[in-house]
This record gives sequence, C-alpha cells and structure tokens, in this order.
Amino acid sequence: MVKYVGTPASGGLTLAKIKIVNRRIAGFKRVVLAPHREKALFNAAVILAKDEIKTLMEHASAQHQDILNFQVVMLDDEGLRNLILSQIEEQVGAARAVELAMEEYCDRMKNVGDEYLAQRASDIRDALTRVIDILDGRNRERFVLTEPCIIVADEILPSDLAVIDRKFAMGFITEGGSYHNHANIIARTTGTPSVCGVDSEILNPLNDGKMVAMDGYTGEVFVAPTEEITAIFHHKMSLEHRQSVKQQQLRDAVVRTAKGEEIAIYANCNDPKDIALAINNGAQGIGLVRSEILFMSTTYNLTLPSQIRFYTECIRAAKGHEITIRTFDIGADKPLENLNLEKEPNPALGMRGVRLMYSQPQLFETQIEALLVSADRCGKINVMIPMVCVENDIADYFEMVERVKERLFKEGTISRDNICWGIMIETPSAALISEELAKYVNFFSIGTNDLTQYVLAADRINTNAARYYNPAHPAVVKLIEMTVASAEKYGLKVSVCGESAADFESAKIYIDKGVRCLSMAQNAMLAIKERLIDEFSAL
Ligand code: PEP
Ligand code: MG
Repeated sequence: MVKYVGTPASGGLTLAKIKIVNRRIAGFKRVVLAPHREKALFNAAVILAKDEIKTLMEHASAQHQDILNFQVVMLDDEGLRNLILSQIEEQVGAARAVELAMEEYCDRMKNVGDEYLAQRASDIRDALTRVIDILDGRNRERFVLTEPCIIVADEILPSDLAVIDRKFAMGFITEGGSYHNHANIIARTTGTPSVCGVDSEILNPLNDGKMVAMDGYTGEVFVAPTEEITAIFHHKMSLEHRQSVKQQQLRDAVVRTAKGEEIAIYANCNDPKDIALAINNGAQGIGLVRSEILFMSTTYNLTLPSQIRFYTECIRAAKGHEITIRTFDIGADKPLENLNLEKEPNPALGMRGVRLMYSQPQLFETQIEALLVSADRCGKINVMIPMVCVENDIADYFEMVERVKERLFKEGTISRDNICWGIMIETPSAALISEELAKYVNFFSIGTNDLTQYVLAADRINTNAARYYNPAHPAVVKLIEMTVASAEKYGLKVSVCGESAADFESAKIYIDKGVRCLSMAQNAMLAIKERLIDEFSAL
C-alpha cells in the first residue's frame, strides 16, 4: 500500500479501480530503428492521428471542432516537424523524438508568459500525445470509461469533463489542479469526490487497474489499500451512506434562524441533469446555472436553437422553482481556447465576464435572444450578469438587451418579456457601489469565489496564495454587509452563490449579516441544512 495526501477538492469516499490518464509520458517500448524507418513510422502515425482527430470532429460541438481543427493544422506545422525529424536524425526513436520536440515547443509557448499561447500549448500537447500513443500502440481514447473507476490524471481539463461518462467516474485524483479550478467546481456540483495536488508518482502506469481508496474530505489516497484500510473505508462509506439517508429526511425541511426567519437553500448547477438532481435533493431553487458550460458541452452548442434547447431544458428541469441563469462568464479561471480572445498579461483583471460583450457582441446578442425566447416559452426566469464593476457595463449590456428585445417583439418571435435581471456582486467595486447598481436590477447574487480573490488579492487557483484566500475574512464580510444593506434599501433579493455558502462557519457569518438565501453545489445542500438546523435549534 502507498499513501498519498493531496488537497481535498470535492467531498466523498470511494473505493474503486484506478484508470491512469497521463498526457505527459512517452513510450519507449519499441526497439529504435534506422532514422529513415523511424521517419516513415512518424509520418504514418501523423496521418493516422489526423484521421482520428477528423473522426472526432464529426461529433464535436462547433467550439470543440475549432480546437480539433487547430490540432490537425499543427500536426503539419513545419517548425514542429523539423524539430522532430532532427531528433530522429540523431538516432532518437520516433516516439521519444516527438516527446522531446513537444516539451521544447510547448515550453517555449508557455514561457512567452501569454495565457492564450499557454492554452494553445496544451492543445498541441494533446495532438502530439496522440501521435506518441499511436507510435507506442497505446489506447488514445483516454477518457472513454467502460466500468466504474477512479480517474488518476495529470490534470482534468474542462473539455475532458464533457466526454467523461459520469456514471462510471467514481472520483478524480490529479497531480495538478486546485480547489477552485473549473473541473473541481464541476466535480462538487455533480457530487464526484476529488483530490488534487497529489505527488506525480501516483501516475506510474503500473498503478493502472490497482484498487485505490480515496477520501475527498481529507485528501487521503491509498493505492492498493491493505485489508485493514479497506475495512475502515467500507465502514466509513456505510456511515456516510447512513448519514446521507438521514440527511435525505431533511430534503423538505426548512432552515429557520432562531428568530424564525427562513434561510433558503438553493443549488448551483451546470446542466439540466444537475438541476433535476438538485430539485430531487430538495433544492428550493437554482441560484446559479453557469452558462459557459455550453462551450464545453458535447450535447449542446452555441447556435441559437441549441442554446434555446439548453435553457428550456434547464427551466423545465427546475419544475417551477426559481432559476437563475448566468450569462457567459469566460476568461481568467475559465479560459476558452476557441474564441481567439486577445492575449492579456493578467486575465483575472482583463476582459472577462460581461466585459467580453465589447469584443464579442454577436456571442452575447445570440445568448440574450436565446434567453428571451426560452423565458417567453417556459415561464419567468432570472438572468444575471457576472464580473460587473462599473455602471457603464450594465447600461451598455441592457442597451443590447433592449435592442434584441425590440427586434424579437417586432418579428413576433416573443410576446412577453419574462426575464427578471440581476447582477453578480463579485468585485469590490460592485459591492462598494451596490446602491448605484441597485437601480438597474431586481436582485444581487454575491459571488464569494471571485469577491474573495479580488478583495484579498489572492488568486483563487493559486495554491501558494491559499492562506490569503479566506471568504470569511472581515474585509469580505464587510462588503457582503454593504451589499445586503443596499439590497434592503432598494427592495432587492440577495443571495450568496460562491462555494463558501456551503461552508458552515462562513454561512453562519453571512446569515448573521442578513443573507437569507445560500446557493451551493447540490451535494452540499443537505449537510449544511443539517448543521444550520442543529445550530439554530440549539439557540
Ligand atoms: C463566484 O465567483 O463566486 C461564482 C459563483 O462564480 P464562478 O465561481 O463561476 O466565478
Ligand atoms: Mg465568479
């Protein structure tokens, strides 16, 4: 047995077989042939890799197609090919030559210090790893799961999540990643245990197929657990199961403060499946649907009809409960390779969230149209805008909304405006001028993930800065208090939808400051309900 300890990123206990997915290893299984034969093998592998990528493109979303297309182009890139061929000339085997060239080329791209190029480097790495796998006779469809397993990977990219079959993914263990990266946010909303920042030794191919016991609460991972550890895990898992059965009884219970005020528990979701699960688990509403998931989906894409299908399915899955859809929040920790966004030295402080409407007006107009049509067809919805800092951005955004709405009314596409608008309060500026911003909207949703990062100048995905990242810090709480006061003054609803809404100690502080709605990953709802009910009934 070998024990590792990583960073707990999504709670839960699991015991299952390991599936290793490592993009960073090259194969050396073959005998190295003469350079001209290695070159021939390399050329044949490139042709096969391009064929495989083109086949993948047939079923990919429009955005994913762009990435795959880029990969095909890069496999013909002369500079890259020359790097590989010159290694082969030096008697290096084709697979190793591709790996060496890949490291050199991708490192160069990463070291430019440009977020966009760094992302492109991982696309190139993906394409070249396919070539290496072909040369080494390995399976290329890395995330195709056929049985329950725990994925042990170098990292899990948001696009990987789109192809992972949730019913077989029992857990994620990664060398890279952080609590706040997108893959782990999604793991928490789907209730999949996850541990990140684990020693790279765990990626040893010899671990593939071995049993592993993982504890997503503590970050402990046991490869090939002893009988004793296995028995302890079985015991803990049955306690966890018993606890969740007990918590299920709280499904319809209502949290009330000692003074009898109701605290609504809502869920943060990514798609209609999550929403159905959340409602089934007693969510009183859906406080956040992250619409940028459409960029990573293989089920939906960004065309108008597909977006309308996505939003209408989300609304219907909410079964008449309040639902809040957030407009695209792209950039910083949610980069998208396929939008050709301008390179920025500091993306967290750049053109992310609502600010992107200036460079991508068509993208935002289509989304507004899809939301207006969906609400017209299915009933009232809330829509909120992320990354608001200044009044001008909201005014410009609503000007766009008015333009789209007017056209749709004129065309007879919609007969009513069924959207209630709100904004996220997730920048210090938005909280400080929340009284001014209140004039434009009907509700505020406090995004403590970003608010904490911006207030405390602590990057949410930088583990080295984790000790500064505290959503219950008095500076963050002061801004929450200000936001609640502005909301009360202007009769707006206010909720907290950051991850800390599910943290008992933080939640208590927020409630104390007047927050009456907490929106969180659906698998955290019942546990926090239980603790809050215990807390308030003891007072
Ligand atoms: C937040 O910032 O708190 C939030 C809920 O949004 P996201 O995590 O998607 O940035
Ligand atoms: Mg945010």
